Amino acid sequence: MTAVPDTRIPSGSVQPAPFPVGHLPVATGSEAGRGRRVVWKFGGTSIGDADRLRAVATRLIAARRQGLQVVAVLSAKGGATDDLVSLAHKVSPKPHPRELDALLAVGESTSCALAAIAIHELGERAVSLTGPQAGIYTDDSHGNARLQRVSPERVVEALEQDMIVLVTGFQGVSANGDITTLGRGGSDASAVALASALGLRECDIFTDVPGVFTADPRVVPGAQKLDSLSHYEMLQLADAGARVLQTRAVELAAAHDIDIHVRSSFTCDAGTRVHRGKPMLEEARVCGVAHLHHDPLYTVTGVSSAAVSAALARRDMAIGSIICCEGEVQFTAPGTTPVRLVAALGAMDAGVAVRDELGSVSVVSMTGGNQPGTITTALSALERSGITVHLVACTPNRVSCHVPATDVDRAAQALHDAFGLHELAGAIATGGVPTAQEKPSHA
Ligand code: ASP
Ligand code: MG
Repeated sequence: MTAVPDTRIPSGSVQPAPFPVGHLPVATGSEAGRGRRVVWKFGGTSIGDADRLRAVATRLIAARRQGLQVVAVLSAKGGATDDLVSLAHKVSPKPHPRELDALLAVGESTSCALAAIAIHELGERAVSLTGPQAGIYTDDSHGNARLQRVSPERVVEALEQDMIVLVTGFQGVSANGDITTLGRGGSDASAVALASALGLRECDIFTDVPGVFTADPRVVPGAQKLDSLSHYEMLQLADAGARVLQTRAVELAAAHDIDIHVRSSFTCDAGTRVHRGKPMLEEARVCGVAHLHHDPLYTVTGVSSAAVSAALARRDMAIGSIICCEGEVQFTAPGTTPVRLVAALGAMDAGVAVRDELGSVSVVSMTGGNQPGTITTALSALERSGITVHLVACTPNRVSCHVPATDVDRAAQALHDAFGLHELAGAIATGGVPTAQEKPSHA
């Protein structure tokens, strides 16, 4: 660990920071090095009020004074984007997507401008840049725009002028100059994309939890923080409902070889490193349980699976699992709502039944070739707990079970117990090899 220089800010008219800057090991280990660039993203709760915003500003200043070149990507403050969405819907049931994006982008602009003001007040140089100013170019699919390129010249220029650079998360600009947004939770993707464009190999995501856990600790009290996991495992967890990182951001990190360090914005502790390393060859490892409290099952009759899929794709909705059997198409579509889904299918002459009372639990595992063991352990655990499983979708790396929404928490706990995830620091668990003599589970 390198020595931390005294970076305390002289007091004046300035309000005291919630924790003393001198106590923040802002540049330890791989962070150390004068002139080194970092991209740090702060989520909505990290900047939820003036004190927290000032704490973030203080942290950025400490890093800057230690010689780092700091880019901070900020979200809107917690709840702000939801408030803007509902404001728009008070004015119109169907706001124009271009104008909705223009409105939603305001949340992140506010955070960045306020953070810059806070940093100035604390005596350091900073500039806020919007997505367009930071050169974040996207296509024109408003509300869920895809990144096309990042040209960070202005960011680099400001860094070279010794400024702390605050970039709005979530925002981009289309080829015709309109503001776009990157989908909910999209600030994570902004941070990863910017890190990549600046030639970095990692990006830190500061959030209101200490890292990625083996399950949601609010649902499974014995859940453990993972020290590290691969992009691939994180992608599966995020897709199955773990909300700590946006799925698209993990995909982007995997594609561009960026490590993501998920860590608490309230402490200096190491969090979870989501890394580009590959798991050991045929290593059996269960890294966690993810859940969705609401994951309806849809049954459509009278149309083909291709027609269903095309109708959803036109509205940018994705299918989770799908089964076609005797003229019926059964599928899930996590990430959308029954209202939107039924509307999307509405134009077709199809019967749609919605099992709205279901949720899902998933085990994410690298099976090391023992997929049967993992599936058996999972299903046996749910059966022993008396939980009815309505649909199971298996891939080599994931077992997802649809269960009644009211049983989701119990199911997550049962799976977590069955794989012994509560016992594991760094959490490595095998799926077990069921034999005729053995009960097919660990519990
Ligand atoms: N503010 C946006 C949202 O709430 C983007 C983000 O926070 O990442 O979805
Ligand atoms: Mg988020």
